[in-house]
Amino acid sequence: MSNAITINPATGENINEYERIAISKAKEKIALARKAYTSWKQTSFTERSQHMHALADHFEENKEAYARLATTEMGKTIVQARKEIEKCAWVCRFYADNVERFLGKETVDTEAKKSYVTFQSMGVILAVMPWNFPFYQVIRFAAPALMAGNTGVLKHASNVQGCAFALEDAFIKAGFPEGVFTNLNINAKDVKGVIEDKSIVAVTLTGSDPAGRSVATVAGANLKKTVLELGGSDAYIVLDDVDLEEATDLAVLGRLQNNGQTCIAAKRFIVLDAIYDAFLKMFTTKMANAKMGDPMDESTYYGPMARVDLRDEIHEQVTKTIAQGGRLLLGGKIPEGKGAYYPATILADVHPGMEAFDNELFGPVAAVIRVKDEHEAIALANTSQFGLGSGVLTSDRERGERVALELEAGSSFVNKLVASDPRLPFGGIKNSGYGRELSSYGIREFVNVKSVWVA
Ligand code: NDP
Repeated sequence: MSNAITINPATGENINEYERIAISKAKEKIALARKAYTSWKQTSFTERSQHMHALADHFEENKEAYARLATTEMGKTIVQARKEIEKCAWVCRFYADNVERFLGKETVDTEAKKSYVTFQSMGVILAVMPWNFPFYQVIRFAAPALMAGNTGVLKHASNVQGCAFALEDAFIKAGFPEGVFTNLNINAKDVKGVIEDKSIVAVTLTGSDPAGRSVATVAGANLKKTVLELGGSDAYIVLDDVDLEEATDLAVLGRLQNNGQTCIAAKRFIVLDAIYDAFLKMFTTKMANAKMGDPMDESTYYGPMARVDLRDEIHEQVTKTIAQGGRLLLGGKIPEGKGAYYPATILADVHPGMEAFDNELFGPVAAVIRVKDEHEAIALANTSQFGLGSGVLTSDRERGERVALELEAGSSFVNKLVASDPRLPFGGIKNSGYGRELSSYGIREFVNVKSVWVA
């Protein structure tokens, strides 16, 4: 069995090799997670909260080391990696502080002497996670799932196994009992065997459409619940009354943060005809000025992509879009030298039927689309197989909100980049998946919503 090898995408150098475990070994670890569950589910919210606060403290105390590990393994800038670790601590504290409010008993008035809804834990949950936020994606699952009394096993992306083991270690250091959170360094093809294990009660996956379909198929055949957070091709509608300086600042950050590899990144800019040329001009200048470089350098705006194969894939999408009539305004060329770098790229005059419109651009490539008015903008935004996030940029808040409500997506932000926030539900519709993470909605995905009636 081939081991998981981590490679620094900024240099192309191998960092480490992690021995994969066979399915038989994974099943032993799942059995331990199941055993841990029988006592973990009996613990009080107060006890779980203490552990979760200790985990938050641990993230804060080890922020620099974890941030450097993430940057080394997947190339995000060190500045953004630190923010990712801070956000992990926030989510841990959020659930530690709010679990009773979300999962407390709900009394319902009926003819019964007593009737209520209670939220009980389910068992061992499998999380299949991606590399783009190697700490945060996992914590976004684990903090609510564990606070609800479940235990978790993780199949993390092969290219961030250092982060995966660091997370397992962090839970132990924070005092969680052994088996409550376990990293399974298995091959993706063994996920099927894990889902089929009778101790696994549900699965959550964040990643690509094919991985999501594969996991949902196996889970469905075994009647196990899934939550899927898949890709997106978020539309940002730029209305004709917008402040162009502010809009282009947001557009650059929205497209380049995390080196362009965020499910809720701004990918399709749908711009009204009246300001299309002015927007493009300013956007192109600012994208060209964003500094690409060593992700460990504090002044770098964006670093390399996470892997060379992913970089090559996005370059193919750019080439295809140009062949289909898209106009290349910036970038579009693989730089010479080491690493998985790809430059900030702008494709203008994009429309449905082109690769850059129809599929997700998971890298620093922006598609710009010209429309005559707001109605056409909404129609085109909704002509997408995806429905994760969406945005509206305008000087008129009421107009922005009206447009936002028309957009087919799990979230719509006016004059702000879409971002996940533990206080709000996060997830998509259409091919972006189903189910929700975060807030009260997220913690209730992996519980048994149980009715109790005492006559
Ligand atoms: P994948 O979806 O392939 O990987 C995500 C996770 O799923 C990894 O842990 C991976 O393991 C696992 N996995 C892959 N295939 C299967 C399968 N058939 N059954 C079970 N688990 C599976 O993403 P990639 O890294 O290949 O990136 C490809 C594209 O996915 C990106 O270009 C982007 O479009 C999308 N993506 C979306 C993300 C999001 O946040 N929504 C995050 C990352 C990627 P392993 O690493 O071992 O293959």
